[in-house]
Amino acid sequence: MKVFKFGGASVKDASSVKNIASVIKNHGSPNLVVVLSAMGKTTNAMEEVIRNYFDDKSLLQNSLSKVVDFHSNIVSELFSGNYEEVNDKLSDLLNKLQNFIDSNKSSNYSFVYDQVIGYGELLSTTIVSCYLNFIGVNNSWLDVRDFIKTDDYYRTANVNWDLTQKSINNLGVTESVFVTQGFLGSDSKGFTTSLGREGSDYTAAIFANCLDAESVTIWKDVDGVLNADPRYFQNTELLTDISYNEAIELAFYGASVIHPKTLQPLQRKNIPLFVKSFINPHKEGTKVGEGTGVKPYVPCFIVKKRQVLLELSTKDFSYIVEKNISFIFQLLHTYKMKVDVIQNTAISLSVCFDDKYGNLELLLNELKTKFRYIVFENVNLYTIRHYTKQSILDLEEGKKILLKQLTKETTQIVVKE
Ligand code: ADP
Ligand code: ASP
Ligand code: MG
Repeated sequence: MKVFKFGGASVKDASSVKNIASVIKNHGSPNLVVVLSAMGKTTNAMEEVIRNYFDDKSLLQNSLSKVVDFHSNIVSELFSGNYEEVNDKLSDLLNKLQNFIDSNKSSNYSFVYDQVIGYGELLSTTIVSCYLNFIGVNNSWLDVRDFIKTDDYYRTANVNWDLTQKSINNLGVTESVFVTQGFLGSDSKGFTTSLGREGSDYTAAIFANCLDAESVTIWKDVDGVLNADPRYFQNTELLTDISYNEAIELAFYGASVIHPKTLQPLQRKNIPLFVKSFINPHKEGTKVGEGTGVKPYVPCFIVKKRQVLLELSTKDFSYIVEKNISFIFQLLHTYKMKVDVIQNTAISLSVCFDDKYGNLELLLNELKTKFRYIVFENVNLYTIRHYTKQSILDLEEGKKILLKQLTKETTQIVVKE
């Protein structure tokens, strides 16, 4: 078995769907699980539906119609008149969504979010599966919620590996192309859960691990993993080989090309990960596997935008040691702040973190009882793996540096731009 994963950009319109269908067709072998994301920016559009459901019901139907129209347009371009089967299936899904919206009594935002958000993936896989059949690539559509079993920590559910393995064993190793949804799972009561935004890469890794797959290929709009995000850096270079450990480090520091949870399930079974371009499928791309470091050995740049830098010092000039540090970190954990950098002196501590859930005010309110603080919002964090003197100089040019930290392999620099 091999596992292919296609993200939103690869199915953003009808011609993109045709393109990935030809990638799957040209692959030729039926032993394939295809994991798909929602089309284009549909997950953002579903988030708007959810916001309207809670905040302004008068906008709800309009936001839903946008999603429906977007998919209908793609269907009418793809199936040249033979829409009946696909339209029946799509109507069925949309009726289920409408039923949930009409009958739900829960006011738990995260629960409702997970019951609604997954329709992006359910719609996209239905369209792509029908289209593959339409062009003669026989395949079976799988509801991933029958396979990936999680707890009920909605919006970032944790995989129950034992149950997931058992469910995937039931799939049997039949000669087939399977098409299924990324990002989703279900809890013990059968409610839909999601694995966190951008979680479809992780889904591919879960399937690969449980199936002892030969490899996973993540198809992207770039040639592979580059030494920097081409949206923010010029003259990027393709990394042809990356070790699991190095890829885990890069993903941890925020290289958004691979979801950070994807690597561990693959490393555990030594399953190679290929990152390839769906625009130029013949190109080699990147291989992530055993070994050390990166090839070619060049500095790798990662930028995380809109971070918070907080400088704390004790009011009574006591040292910031174990007790204070554990108090501060407990609060950071409570408010779901993902910490990127820590730096301390005897009486001060600086932390740079991602305030994903907008909890900064609450955090500061609790900290101010014990600490003086200076806070910088909207700062950018640059990380250079395998830095050289020159790479640091180039990066720093013209920027206001707020914090800088060097370890053997990694430099981190917080700047205000
Ligand atoms: P998906 O369609 O799978 O969701 P993403 O949009 O999440 O794909 O990831 C692809 C994008 O990741 C690229 O278009 C690129 O802008 C960005 N990216 C960030 N860091 C890197 C990197 N180191 N190498 C390649 N692409 C990167
Ligand atoms: N569709 C989901 C998202 O946009 C999951 C994914 O694409 O990986 O976050
Ligand atoms: Mg994505």
